[in-house]
Amino acid sequence: MLDERDLPWLAEPLKQLRDHARSHAIILHGGAGSGQWELAWRVAQAWLCENGPGPCGECPSCHLALAHSHPDMKVLMPETMQLALGWSEGSAGDDGDGDSGDGSKSKRKPSREIKIDAVRLAIDWAHTSSSRGRGKVLLFYPADAMNATSANALLKTLEEPAAGTKLLLCVDDPERLLPTVRSRCQRVRLAPPDLTTAEAWLTKQGVAGAAALLRASGGEPLAAKALVDEGLDAALWGQLPAQVAQGETRTLAAMPLPRAVRVLQQVCHDAMAQAAGGEPRFFEPGQVPRGAGMAGLAEWARELARVARHDEHPWNAPLRVEALVAQGQRVWNET
Ligand SMILES: [Zn+2]
Repeated sequence: MLDERDLPWLAEPLKQLRDHARSHAIILHGGAGSGQWELAWRVAQAWLCENGPGPCGECPSCHLALAHSHPDMKVLMPETMQLALGWSEGSAGDDGDGDSGDGSKSKRKPSREIKIDAVRLAIDWAHTSSSRGRGKVLLFYPADAMNATSANALLKTLEEPAAGTKLLLCVDDPERLLPTVRSRCQRVRLAPPDLTTAEAWLTKQGVAGAAALLRASGGEPLAAKALVDEGLDAALWGQLPAQVAQGETRTLAAMPLPRAVRVLQQVCHDAMAQAAGGEPRFFEPGQVPRGAGMAGLAEWARELARVARHDEHPWNAPLRVEALVAQGQRVWNET
């Protein structure tokens, strides 16, 4: 896994969270495409490292953490995230799911939630004493994968944790957490690195056209790299608005549905900005065709938001993308 030696902009936030956390419960927000997970994982290790200031990577605690089997560390994430990150749990990580090795259950759709049973077990675990005497760490990634029941179950632990227990709640937007959860935590935001650092990092990864891809990704370098890994490049990115305006779906239909919807939302956003006399944000000014009407764009934006909120349906993803692109194309051609 990448860490602050690979992603140098994480070094300072790691130090801050390790040495200057004011609260036992922290919300780490923002920076989903800038290494939020990588930072959270290093902070959790640092809090338990026995050769501080860590994480040293050498002590028994660091070794146990790296093997995902530290008895004083628990990471709660939904199955979809475990799959995305290639995360597997060691002996300390039993989430109480009880479905390992069950062929019939393994065929069901992976859950997008951190389950209430896992949260309850983690709460019980957090109130037992630390095995290695350096407290305990409970990491939620992402914390908004807890439903309201799970989050409510956690409130008392956030308020009165067992001595030495630290909680780290990762989330892109803290507004997605209950106000009662937010009010009990210290908030720390991970900002994207400055443009020069981000561009230099991407160029070092062999990415051409870093500036355009950073524009596409809100300045977040790992998000920009992910676009390249999914087969996009700067030139293709710049063609997408024109493709949509022409009803051309070949690039978008090849993307996973959430990505395609996100791209269409970015095209729509920039077309609306231009229609209102502003500048596009995700594309270059010349790349977004003019002439789309605001009313049609607003309606298209509503439909895109509706689809974005719903679960992924991989079996009809290309059809869904075609319908969304067709709606966009009409917006450019009805005026
Ligand atoms: Zn260590």
